[in-house]
Amino acid sequence: MADDSTPNVNLSAPVGSVDLPAFDDDGNPHEIWACHDCLPWHAEVVLSEGEVLVREWHAVDCPQFQQLVQG
Ligand SMILES: [Zn+2]
Repeated sequence: MADDSTPNVNLSAPVGSVDLPAFDDDGNPHEIWACHDCLPWHAEVVLSEGEVLVREWHAVDCPQFQQLVQG
């Protein structure tokens, strides 16, 4: 049984996504580094209303994800 008090960042953990701009204001690409805090991390490139975005998926308990959704 999983312990609810510990973050679940395993491959089977529920995942959530956050959309990030693919480029900065000067048009330079943002570097994407694989998350070292959760295993299910992956990313996809999406086109949203003509804008290229990077959609990062993390375990919902991942500290990086928590930081991204709060920031
Ligand atoms: Zn993560």
